[in-house]
Amino acid sequence: MPWRGRWDPGRERERMVTHQLRERGIRDERVLEAFGRLPREAFVDPGRERSAYDDRPLDLGRGQTISQPWVVAVMLEALDLHPTDRLLEVGVGSGYAIALASSLAGETYGVERIPELADAARERLDRLGFRAIRIRTGDGTTGWPEAAPFDAILVSAGGREVPAALVSQLKPSGRMVIPVGGEFEQDLLLVRRTESGEVSQRSLGPVRFVPLISDPHPG
Ligand code: SAH
Repeated sequence: MPWRGRWDPGRERERMVTHQLRERGIRDERVLEAFGRLPREAFVDPGRERSAYDDRPLDLGRGQTISQPWVVAVMLEALDLHPTDRLLEVGVGSGYAIALASSLAGETYGVERIPELADAARERLDRLGFRAIRIRTGDGTTGWPEAAPFDAILVSAGGREVPAALVSQLKPSGRMVIPVGGEFEQDLLLVRRTESGEVSQRSLGPVRFVPLISDPHPG
């Protein structure tokens, strides 16, 4: 049997940053540093740590996935986050993307539709020291009106259209990334509101996300 050495998450993380992110065109050093600091293995189920740095989405239970690192990096780079930005994530899942995003932004809010996932993410983020992130259970397509407006909105599940409530909760100069399209493939859109309030959008390329679901979760 070949000797495979001790599993070293720090080294895996460095390799991920180099090969999955930097070599594939992620240029924003703040984004690369954020990925280099956050232990992705803390966001997977116990026993699955060794898959944490695989170049793919990872199963997080309840039919949901933690996105592939490269896709999260593309989204975060496009959002161009700054330390004073007020940020919303729709689809918190494991909490991995919101942890990265919050390390680049200011006040951070997240909505997750499945109560068990929201609870687990809250606990995990608390344990990792991300105590300022506020997470609530519910339908994120209606945003978080009490905390709006936001400088940046990250939507981590794919829907048929851009929810109007989310656009209305963007500040002037605000940015939102959101996968929009069908069940099996979506277009990752960067939606921007200008200073004068006009809304523009451009595509960042094809992606595949789990569905953005507006119905309440049964359990
Ligand atoms: N950003 C997550 C990825 C989670 S997958 C991570 O880093 O782990 C997408 C998540 O969106 C799932 O957990 C799913 O339950 C959630 N979701 C789907 N529709 C939603 C909605 N309308 N409001 C809030 N969360 C939603």
